[in-house]
Amino acid sequence: MYSPPQLPLRCWAEIDLAALERNLRLIRASLPAHIKYVAVVKADAYGHGLHQTVARLMHAGADLFAVANVTEAAAIRELGPGWPVLVLSPVLPAEDKYLLEYDITAAISTPEEVDRFDAVGREAGRVVAIHLKIDTGMGRLGVWHEEAGRLYERIRRAEHVRLDGAFTHFSSADEDPAFTDEQRRRFLVALRSCAGLDPSRLLIHADNSAGLETAHGEQPFNAVRVGLLQFGILPHPNSMLARVHTEPVFSFRTRVGIVKRLPAGTDISYGRTMTLQRDSLIAVLCAGYGDGVARACSNRAQVLVHGIRCAVLGRVTMDQTIIDVTDVPGVSCGDEATLVGRQEGAEISIAEFSDWSDSIPWETLCSVTKRVPRVYRTSLGL
Ligand SMILES: *Cc1c(COP(=O)(O)O)cnc(C)c1O
Repeated sequence: MYSPPQLPLRCWAEIDLAALERNLRLIRASLPAHIKYVAVVKADAYGHGLHQTVARLMHAGADLFAVANVTEAAAIRELGPGWPVLVLSPVLPAEDKYLLEYDITAAISTPEEVDRFDAVGREAGRVVAIHLKIDTGMGRLGVWHEEAGRLYERIRRAEHVRLDGAFTHFSSADEDPAFTDEQRRRFLVALRSCAGLDPSRLLIHADNSAGLETAHGEQPFNAVRVGLLQFGILPHPNSMLARVHTEPVFSFRTRVGIVKRLPAGTDISYGRTMTLQRDSLIAVLCAGYGDGVARACSNRAQVLVHGIRCAVLGRVTMDQTIIDVTDVPGVSCGDEATLVGRQEGAEISIAEFSDWSDSIPWETLCSVTKRVPRVYRTSLGL
């Protein structure tokens, strides 16, 4: 949505690119030196903005980028040659020729994909770069691990595809270390079943953010795919990855639109789901579900004003959210309200905000709408 940049901000996401860069460096430093860093930047870099995020991660030393689709990959390629860009989701037949045009690497799950990419390569007199994706128990993309050997054979026979890597994806790295270990084991067995495959010449990767908790640094793994953690968010509250000391990159802020007094007994917002128990001072905030404050937050979430937690009253509406500021001294129209992030020594984490909306940080980040301008902060300030 077009937003004239000279107008004051009513609801915005603050993106701290300096923190992003520090996070990448901290994550790298926590891994063995030979491990390649695949920065996962699908879905507009988890809502942080693809261009700004990728440019900063290039500067910070990311080795590769992974995205969901060819459109996102092309957007990264427009920023510059050199960095391999891996597409994680299936490529549609109509997109095949763009793999070569934009120098994009595709993930392969099926023999049909091998044949299609081989044909595209042959026609252009070039080779299409691929990673072999192996399904070790996610039940989504990838060739089933027991059939990987056969698919690899097909890849070997295809003259116009070049295998650059092999990977798998964990279904429950954040909650089931035993099954994650089993997935690693299936993956290694599957690789061994590929006659003639030399893992040391490929990029071999499995770990997402949560996977880093249980990674043993064993051969032949030589790359990790990091999404959430580089944005300074732990995959779950008790994560051992707290030791890496990443910091949040994303904050979500709005402003107080009006402040007014209402008597005890007043019903608040649509559906009258909340009745004031006392004479109250309420503030109406300039953000609602049209901005990404989930309606599920109604009567549950808290918002920081002047560093004090204020309860959301009644239903979140499209453009406004009502909060109780009775106990906050000196609130006035235009004051900043923080939905996610730090304010005057207090903090609401994205995990907390996500809990209030029955969601997870990944989804919360993808739910901040186009109406919300992303404001980039660097080490030089806003
Ligand atoms: C999104 C994604 C990742 C990154 O996951 P995080 O939990 O955000 O680190 C890694 N690999 C694949 C295949 C993905 O789709």
